[in-house]
Amino acid sequence: MTVGASPGGSIIYLEDVTVDFDGFKALNGLNFYMDYKELRVVIGPNGAGKTTLLDVISGKVRPSAGRVIFGRNIDLVGRRENEIAGLGIGRKFQTPSVFANLMVRENLELALARSSKGVFPTLKARLSGEQRERLDATLDSIGLLGQAGTRAGGLSHGEKQWLEIGMVMVQDAELLLVDEPVAGMTDEETEKTGRLLEGVAEERAVLVIEHDMEFVRRIARTVTVLHEGGVLCEGPVDKIQSDERVMEVYLGRSRDADA
Ligand code: ADP
Ligand code: MG
Repeated sequence: MTVGASPGGSIIYLEDVTVDFDGFKALNGLNFYMDYKELRVVIGPNGAGKTTLLDVISGKVRPSAGRVIFGRNIDLVGRRENEIAGLGIGRKFQTPSVFANLMVRENLELALARSSKGVFPTLKARLSGEQRERLDATLDSIGLLGQAGTRAGGLSHGEKQWLEIGMVMVQDAELLLVDEPVAGMTDEETEKTGRLLEGVAEERAVLVIEHDMEFVRRIARTVTVLHEGGVLCEGPVDKIQSDERVMEVYLGRSRDADA
């Protein structure tokens, strides 16, 4: 679904957003926005509020204050997850959710059926020619055309992640939310995932949460650093990497502690 493009406007805009978990502010007056068809990477130490940011946009968590505007003027606050997905915001979760016993192609068909409003999701639902084309194009771009007829359960970890990205792609979301896509991937898989997301971002906006700095350096145009529920700094990856505050709260700490 298209939500009225606004040239120069933002596809998503969070204004003074606070998420309060019994007094603890996971997001604290956060201001964040991104452009149409932008590929943005959000980094930050554990607990910074990265996943909560995605939860707020996708409607899983309701902010206690602030506005979340999608497209020209759709306020997402108070809307349910299904409704937000139907507006054109897709989310790929960290944990795999492919159906292992279904074929690769069937997983995509199911994702497509689920996204068609008013259509009861069944595997036997007939796809239109246009849908079939979209599905084949997606299989091609995630590099799984050759495995379309194999069980998804037999795919490698990386391939499963790509299938899931494909499942969000066929739903034709205008904004894609992706949480730590390269966790557990080999260097080669990481490289391929970067290319895949760059391709996706040619047609839609992609917001990626990521820990892996190698990956961030590879794909990032603009990086947003979250810290304690707010934006610590934002800019090109070179600027971010040489920023004293970032080294202190993120890079330094992750080297010593959790990375
Ligand atoms: P990140 O993804 O950056 O690691 P999160 O957004 O998951 O961080 O969490 C931010 C902070 O909010 C963390 O301190 C986490 O413990 C806390 N938090 C997240 N979800 C909840 C919840 N449902 N209830 C209470 N605290 C939460
Ligand atoms: Mg997280």
